[in-house]
Amino acid sequence: MTVVVIDPGHGGDNLGGHTDEFIEQELTLKVANVMYDRLKQYDDVEVYLTRDNNTDPDLSRKDRAKIAADHNADLFISLHFNMSENHDLYGAEVWTSAFGEYYEKGASFASIVMDSLHGELGFFDRGIKTRIGDDGTDYYGIIKYGTELNIPSVIIEHCHMDESRDYDFLHEHGEDSYTILGQADADCVAKYFRLSSSSLGLDYSSYEAPVLSAYEPVLPDDTAPETCEIELLDADTVSGTALVRMNASDSDSIIQYYRYSLDGGVSFTKLLPWNDDIEAGQSCEKDNVNASIELAPGKESELIVRVYNRYDKYTDSNLIVLPAAEIKEQETETAQSADSVDEDDLKASEYDEIVAVPGELGAAKGSYNGLLISGAAIVICIAALLTVILVLVSSSRRRKKRKRRRRY
Ligand SMILES: [Zn+2]
Repeated sequence: MTVVVIDPGHGGDNLGGHTDEFIEQELTLKVANVMYDRLKQYDDVEVYLTRDNNTDPDLSRKDRAKIAADHNADLFISLHFNMSENHDLYGAEVWTSAFGEYYEKGASFASIVMDSLHGELGFFDRGIKTRIGDDGTDYYGIIKYGTELNIPSVIIEHCHMDESRDYDFLHEHGEDSYTILGQADADCVAKYFRLSSSSLGLDYSSYEAPVLSAYEPVLPDDTAPETCEIELLDADTVSGTALVRMNASDSDSIIQYYRYSLDGGVSFTKLLPWNDDIEAGQSCEKDNVNASIELAPGKESELIVRVYNRYDKYTDSNLIVLPAAEIKEQETETAQSADSVDEDDLKASEYDEIVAVPGELGAAKGSYNGLLISGAAIVICIAALLTVILVLVSSSRRRKKRKRRRRY
């Protein structure tokens, strides 16, 4: 009999991450409940939750691991949703122990989860990762205490609640999001333990879980990418695009995002995927990616590329100057008139703005007048209605009086 303990992250007064829209403790509980119900439908498996509401006091990570140990869990899974300090990171990640068979089992299960979150549901693959604390043991409490109690333990960070490429999924699917994620997580467990379900009509008895060697754990990367160099391959000033070769390397991690600046590093684009087919856990020493970058019309740009590794540490490239895009005919006219603007014109345009203000006030007055007119119309209508009612009431009274007279 396989035993699985599911831990819905956070709870009680510990909300976890929260945005105006999402509260992590609620999301993790919704996904956990679906995962629990789905997994219960498989044969030969016992499933437990560390918590089933958001009102009981928050459990410590140690207590959560103890619950898993009390049930003799074969796998302990903590469910989470992510957020980043600058609200710019996106994608799914799975954390596991860095040590021995706990790495081997955790990373094997995590590979199945990443196939599901990235391969099937389309979230960006931020990797299967380990993190080690100052004392040399696993950094995350769930994994540290779980491992100490001899249970392979993983943390699933499904996606980021504060980045549009991730929360678009939650918007698109609404409440169904948690059903989709919970069922997917349950099926990953079923695959890993080769479970079958007659009620669901699913049979994973011959599923081959990826085998990861305990001797080559993926260790955390505390250093930024070693190199990031850029080179202009081609610039087409007519169409306004440049082809830039970006060469970046990180010997103990991989490059996963990049962003660029056209103003010498003052402002940057949002994060972009470095390479769309990054394999989970892959490590590479050299990587080239060509990027097509739009040239600014009429002025040169100072391009800097910033590359990020799996641990979100970044390195900036050298600066290269990109030529200006040719100004198209329509733009030439505006550019010429802009060139010919002298001080008097500037004053005139400033003045235009000032005189535009009373215009706006006028518009506001106009709508105020409109309000007055519609108000008057309403008053007239009410008066007309009242008159009609009065006439009707008095006529019915007269009729009743007549009726009464007839009876007597
Ligand atoms: Zn969390």
